[in-house]
Amino acid sequence: MAATIIDGKAIAAKIRGEIARDTAALKEKGVTPGLAVVLVGEDPASKVYVSMKEKACADVGIFSDEYKLPATTSEAELLKLIDKLNNDPKIHGILVQLPLPKQINTEKVLEAISPLKDADGFHPYNVGRLVIGKPLFQPCTPYGVMVMLKETGVDLSGKEVVVVGRSNIVGKPVAFMCLQQNATVTLCHSRTRDLAAKVAQADVLIAAVGVPEMIKGAWIKEGAVVIDVGVNRVGEKKLVGDVEYAAAAERASAITPVPGGVGPMTITMLLYNTLEAAKRSAEK
Ligand code: NDP
Repeated sequence: MAATIIDGKAIAAKIRGEIARDTAALKEKGVTPGLAVVLVGEDPASKVYVSMKEKACADVGIFSDEYKLPATTSEAELLKLIDKLNNDPKIHGILVQLPLPKQINTEKVLEAISPLKDADGFHPYNVGRLVIGKPLFQPCTPYGVMVMLKETGVDLSGKEVVVVGRSNIVGKPVAFMCLQQNATVTLCHSRTRDLAAKVAQADVLIAAVGVPEMIKGAWIKEGAVVIDVGVNRVGEKKLVGDVEYAAAAERASAITPVPGGVGPMTITMLLYNTLEAAKRSAEK
């Protein structure tokens, strides 16, 4: 049976509609959600991401303020800006676009962001809250995966979830989010033995590796749900995921395409996090 295609664009559009509605309601109460986006240097991909984030903010009525700093910016200068934004009442979320230039210690910068304005959810305080099951800000890509599963009607309770990839931005947080939803979670990585056998156990497979189509369709259990976070450029223009899509779609009950799957959810959850932060500050 052909798999249901999980349409990330449609789910993202629905959630963005809800965010626009809630943002308008909050504005009527006198609070405009505000996101500060900090870009250091000239990385072309980072520039594209930053402009996409700003456009997405404008589309839902969130105020965004961009800080473009030269590649020569010192760590002290960046920390000073973050301190200013931490204390700016118009700003509810702060995003520092990664990667940062070599002279700047990324961990130090992420830890300088107020945990109450940590729209990316990378601050160790927010990571800790996620692990103990009391999340405040949740990282956007894994949070987007969870929303997609919910919108697809997948109940994780008691399910075998296999996550491939253990990065701090995708694999580890999504594993904890699934655990919180009562799944039994297996977290695989480059040292995992017999990955094919692990993948074959998955009721829900979440791939976040960064290697084009390395997870073979034949490994996937009949009827599994497949979420492919990977975005890999092959040749000049083609994008593929971490899962061998065509073969996997013949065995899965539902699968995300690449592009058009998890991708559109990441910025959506950034907007969501900013709105939630503004709501929390309005309640104070
Ligand atoms: P990282 O490179 O930080 O992590 C990759 C993980 O995959 C590591 O844990 C690594 O293991 C594991 N891995 C690598 N090779 C293998 C292998 N052969 N078998 C099993 N595990 C392996 O990647 P990210 O988490 O940042 O990103 C993963 C993918 O998701 C990328 O394609 C990226 O572009 C995409 N992405 C997409 C986003 C979106 O918005 N859609 C957002 C973020 C990422 P080890 O730890 O042992 O080295």
